[in-house]
Amino acid sequence: MRGLRKLQFSVATIVSSALIPCLVLADDHTGGVPLLSSRPDAPYTFYLNFAGFNYTGNWSSGTPGSTPSYFGVSSTGTFNSTQQNRIKQVWARVAEKYAPFNVNVTTIDPAVAAGRADTDAHRQAYYDSQARMMHTVIGGTGGWSGGGGVSFVGTTQNSYSTSGNGGAGLGRHTNWVFAAQAPTSYQFVAEASAHEIGHGMKLDHQSDFNGTAKINEYSSNNGATGNGSYAPIMGNSYSTQRGTWRIGTAGDNGNPVSQNDVATLLTNNGVGGFIDDGIGHGFGTATDLPLTGLTINNTLAKGVIVPSSSANPQAMGEDSYLSDFFRFRTEGGLVSMKLTNGSQYLTPGTADPGATLDSVLRVYDSSMNLVGMATRDGSTLFSTFSMNLGVGNYFAKISSIGGYSSTFATPASYYTMGSYFLTGSGFTPVPEPATMLGLASGLAFFYRRRRKQK
Ligand SMILES: [Zn+2]
Repeated sequence: MRGLRKLQFSVATIVSSALIPCLVLADDHTGGVPLLSSRPDAPYTFYLNFAGFNYTGNWSSGTPGSTPSYFGVSSTGTFNSTQQNRIKQVWARVAEKYAPFNVNVTTIDPAVAAGRADTDAHRQAYYDSQARMMHTVIGGTGGWSGGGGVSFVGTTQNSYSTSGNGGAGLGRHTNWVFAAQAPTSYQFVAEASAHEIGHGMKLDHQSDFNGTAKINEYSSNNGATGNGSYAPIMGNSYSTQRGTWRIGTAGDNGNPVSQNDVATLLTNNGVGGFIDDGIGHGFGTATDLPLTGLTINNTLAKGVIVPSSSANPQAMGEDSYLSDFFRFRTEGGLVSMKLTNGSQYLTPGTADPGATLDSVLRVYDSSMNLVGMATRDGSTLFSTFSMNLGVGNYFAKISSIGGYSSTFATPASYYTMGSYFLTGSGFTPVPEPATMLGLASGLAFFYRRRRKQK
C-alpha cells in the first residue's frame, strides 16, 4: 500500500466528457483467464494480471523476481472454473470503482495485441513505453516489498524510456497487489487493486489527522463496518461495506492537505470528464423505460450515476450528481420496480459484488408531481417500489443519495456514485411503432398505443 513518490509531473488539463458506452467481453478462453473489459475503447487501460509475472531487474529498491499467479500456480497452468470465478469477482469490483470514468479495467493483456508478449521482459518494456497504461500484478506475498501492495504515484499518464533493467524498463507502469496474503478475500484483493491503480493516477493516501498530526496513514473511517458503512479506497477499505472515493485529508505528518480523489483522477491527461451512460438526465429528455413484454429489460435499464460537475466534483448533496430519468406508461394497475445498486457484468439481473452507489428511486406523474418513492432496503443495496397507478404516463428518477459524511478525525465526505439497474413489472408492453403526440404540457412525450387485444 505504500506510495513511492519517485516522480513529479505537471498537472494536466481537464477535458470535456466523452461518450463511450459500457461493454463487457465475457468469453472465457479455455482453461485460462476470463477475458473481461469494462470499457474497451477508453483512453486508459488498467490491466489486471492474475496469471503471474517474471519481473526483470529492480523495481524501485526491491527485486520482485518471479510472482506466481493469483492461485500460486505457474503462469502456464490453467485455471479451473472456481478460480476463473474468483478472477471475475475481483475484476467486477475493481471495474465498478472506475465505472464513472473513461477508463478500461481489463484482464486482457494489451501486450498480446501489440505483439510484445513473447517474453515477460518484452511485456514489461511495452507497458513502460505506453502512456495511459497500468499493469497490476496480482499475486505473491510481497516479501520483497512489504505491505499489501505497492505502486509509483502519478506515473500512469506518461510514457517512459525502456533503457533501464537491460531494456525492460524501470517498471513505472507495473504495480503490485500481494494477493497471496488473503487470496480468497476478494474485497481485499479488489480494494487493494483499485488503491494501487489510484496511486498511478496521482492519488495519495487518505489519512486521519488530529489537527496537523497524522494518526492513521490509512484511514478506515474508524473501522467502519456493516450496512451503510464507508471507508476510503485510498485508505483501508478492506472491511467496510462500501469502499469509495473520498474528499478528505492526505499529506505528511504535520502538513495535512485536502485531497478530492475524484477531482484528482480527472486531472490525468486525457481522462476527460465523467462517462455518459446514455440515459436522459431530466424530465424533458427522459429515456423510454426498456421493456420486454410487461417487464423491465434490466440489461438495458441501467446506468452509471456520476457527479454533475467534472470541473468541481463534490460528494455531498443529491444535486452534486446527475440523476437518470426513465419514462413509462401503465394502463392502470400494480407497478413494481426494484432499483439495485451495482453493476451486472457477471450475471445479468444480479448485482455484482462491490456496489459503490447508494441510490433513491422516485416516481412522478406526467405533470412531474411526485407520486411515490421506493423503500430503501436495510442492506442499503437496493430499494423497491410497489404501487397501484392509474392509467397514464410516468417518470422514474434515479438519484444518488448524495454522499456520506464522516466526522471521524478530520471530517471527510465520501462519493456515492456508480452503477445501477432496474427490474420490475406492470408496464404497458412495447407496441407497434410509437406515435408521437404533442402535449399541452410542453413536454414531448412519446405515447405508446397499447396493442388491442383481440
Ligand atoms: Zn498505498
